[in-house]
Amino acid sequence: MVEEQPQEKIATAEPRDDERVSILMVDDSPDKLLAIESILEKLGQDLVKAYSGHEALRLILKREFALILLDVNMPGMDGFETASLIRQRQQTENTPIIFVTALSTTDADVFKGYAFGAVDYILTPIVPDILRTKVGVFVDLWRQKRALRDQAKELRTLNEDLGRRATQLAEANRELEGFCYTVAHDLRAPLRAMEGLTCALADEYSQNWDATAHDYAARIRLAAERMDRMIQELLSYSRLALLEPELAPVEVEKLLNEVLQSLEWDIRERGAVVKVKRVKDRVIANHTLALQVFINLIGNALKFVALENKPVVKVWMEARNNGFLRIWVEDNGIGIAPEHHGRIFRVFERLHDREAYPGTGIGLAIVQKGIGRMGGAVGLESEPGKGSRFWVELKSAEEGQT
Ligand code: ADP
Repeated sequence: MVEEQPQEKIATAEPRDDERVSILMVDDSPDKLLAIESILEKLGQDLVKAYSGHEALRLILKREFALILLDVNMPGMDGFETASLIRQRQQTENTPIIFVTALSTTDADVFKGYAFGAVDYILTPIVPDILRTKVGVFVDLWRQKRALRDQAKELRTLNEDLGRRATQLAEANRELEGFCYTVAHDLRAPLRAMEGLTCALADEYSQNWDATAHDYAARIRLAAERMDRMIQELLSYSRLALLEPELAPVEVEKLLNEVLQSLEWDIRERGAVVKVKRVKDRVIANHTLALQVFINLIGNALKFVALENKPVVKVWMEARNNGFLRIWVEDNGIGIAPEHHGRIFRVFERLHDREAYPGTGIGLAIVQKGIGRMGGAVGLESEPGKGSRFWVELKSAEEGQT
């Protein structure tokens, strides 16, 4: 048994099973208090005595109790009054109170007790086992409550941490993308000088060149052109992150017609067939971004097909049950092994030989970033030799679409 220590620290909420909890016993009779104390001692908790309602109120200001055992009949402030004052304090409004009262208590008194915040009654003469069991239940409850409170606190801290880190990351990302934009922009000037000077060199001196010199000059021009294309694509990729795209309903069918017009040359050259069906609905998107996304996806579907095969591309739409529409782009091409499905969306990631399948490796990065900026998602199903099915999901613009 531990006597009340005036300066004792309020018990902190450590979720340890072995930590003792404090129980306040309030009775004007020292004998009764002693009797209760000897019954509860076995529970091994911290038992604190108060000889009046006033003393109990003073104690609850200083520390936290898991349970209060309160005598009803006390001179001066009785148990009911004490309980109602305990309930008025925010910190103790939910502290369980068990009234200890004589067997002769009337029903009216019992109701009054509950109205004043009692959670239970113990009748005198006290049956030790009943008292111990009841108090034991409240001790367990309090421990569980404390553990939950600790977990909630921990979760809050973790959440705050996560939020802070996400903000820092987003800032770092923006900075990096801004940096990338500047670098890419500035790289174009010397590159243009290189291209211009190679042309000037060829114009003025090529009459004296042999075949090898002509070949070198042509290769310098091609390399410069390729680098320029890469820089331009990098620029549009960085721009995606820096600009806030305006979103509005976009008619998918119209959009796909524009995409096919832009790809007309590639379609004709490969003798490809593009079948578009069930695309009547509208999605919430940015027109320019969506155009870029589908030019890249359908462009790839035409490109990554073995030369001896004619590309057959199918595009269709499917309503999802979350208010989104999924647009599929399927090809009969060379396919992609599942282990590469994640990395092909990264900048400059390419799986295939540049000679056979030209490209910069930025197209799918633009697709993913662009779809993300429009609040959508992108994915694929593919296996080598079995073609690929890319999909993008965008929010439906149609009312009542679930
Ligand atoms: P690029 O087309 O310029 O090479 P992308 O970022 O569009 O770059 O694609 C990255 C890589 O993913 C491609 O180089 C290719 O290896 C693979 N890929 C993309 N689309 C397809 C497809 N439809 N079929 C097979 N491979 C594809």
